[in-house]
Amino acid sequence: MSATFVGMPVFPVAARQALANDQLRRNLAHATGTIRAKRAQVVAEVADWEELRQAGADIKDHALATLADQLELLEQRLTDAGAVVHWARDAEQACRIVGDIAVGHGADEVVKVKSMVTQEIGLNEALGARGIAAWETDLAELIVQLGDDLPSHILVPAIHRNRTEIRDIFAEKMAAAGRPAPADLTDDPARLAEAARLHLREKFLRAKVAVSGANFAVAETGTLVVVESEGNGRMCLTLPEVLVSVVGIEKVVPTWADLDVFLRLLPRSSTGERMNPYTSTWTGVTPGDGPQQVHVVLLDNGRTRALADQVGRQALRCIRCSACLNVCPVYERTGGHAYGSVYPGPIGAILNPLLRGPGTDAQTDSLPFASSLCGACYEVCPVKIDIPSVLVDLRAQVVDAHRGGRPKPEALAMRGAATAFTSSRRLGLLERLTRVGLAAARRLPVARAWTGSRDLPAAPRESFRAWWRRTNAGAR
Ligand code: SF4
Repeated sequence: MSATFVGMPVFPVAARQALANDQLRRNLAHATGTIRAKRAQVVAEVADWEELRQAGADIKDHALATLADQLELLEQRLTDAGAVVHWARDAEQACRIVGDIAVGHGADEVVKVKSMVTQEIGLNEALGARGIAAWETDLAELIVQLGDDLPSHILVPAIHRNRTEIRDIFAEKMAAAGRPAPADLTDDPARLAEAARLHLREKFLRAKVAVSGANFAVAETGTLVVVESEGNGRMCLTLPEVLVSVVGIEKVVPTWADLDVFLRLLPRSSTGERMNPYTSTWTGVTPGDGPQQVHVVLLDNGRTRALADQVGRQALRCIRCSACLNVCPVYERTGGHAYGSVYPGPIGAILNPLLRGPGTDAQTDSLPFASSLCGACYEVCPVKIDIPSVLVDLRAQVVDAHRGGRPKPEALAMRGAATAFTSSRRLGLLERLTRVGLAAARRLPVARAWTGSRDLPAAPRESFRAWWRRTNAGAR
């Protein structure tokens, strides 16, 4: 995949470009509307949904409050089960670790389970730079990869493509990546799925190394969990000799009982299903069964930074269900590319600034403002992340980060008002100067621009306080 989010314009610019694409808006409205309706239907079936949401939030908060202990326990259990645990501070370290493992096994290709975190760290590009091809095996990710495209949705990365576009991509690009698409390929979904299945099967059978993420990591047993719909993940997790799992440190849950809550919340919130089709769990190495070398890369990459943010740390509860994207009126119109990150939509608008830090770059700083603050994201979030409150707090942080030594005109005006209002004498002087000052201000070019479409009220002949004094405290 040669496309990259690096260098994307700020959200308002990217959004304007996306809004001009009618086909994109039609695809998005259809796809988000369908998933939204399915989710609403299956969530309504669960009588204790609100209690389940609260339980999910509480478990994640407990895991985050005891993160150091949970991670040490996870590392111990993984090591006991024969896995090799690596710690990565940032994207560069994580990519280097994965690349070294692949090179160490003489691999020039890896097969990948759909994983947000490996996209976050730019793993495919880093492996490509070392001569290792990284093949996406999730159908939507395959479409994105073959189309030299970028993912635009957490769960449905090719949501911006319709099936005719997918047929064209398969017909044009599959041959260069392996088994070509059938010559008579149509846009029938079953034919498209069959073409992808045949294309991927030879890669599954050939690859020595697989790379995955994990939806959850159970500390008490050292078990990693991948939740998926197509079975491609199960193939990657079981066929190759070596498995490398890159796991964000916030994915840890303390116990199997905790995992139960998330396995009920996630499918209904994401695909609108009662259960997801494939849930794979593995605990280190099982002799004679599955990969005989298991590596786990525990990744920070800004997560401890986000954890230190008292308002924003709740974003680390996120289980990447994408329900917030599907209800967001902004996302529905712009799609995911406008957010300039693998994490789009409402969660992306808070997670990216939290991971990178406000004030880092203009694109990241534009994200907390990419919201109408309607609150729909909070209402559907299965782990009750109060996204609107985090957005408001991040907006303040972005403004603060840009104050520097040069205060803006509004800040100067507010400072002047504060000085005047804290002294009766100064306020009296200001009142006397107001009439003269307003008359002079009207002549300034900046004021003329402002009053071009607005009325500037005339100053009263006499201030309230002067009137009060003159009339003996208002008595007539
Ligand atoms: S913020 Fe909530 S709704 Fe959005 S992806 Fe994360 S868990 Fe799902």
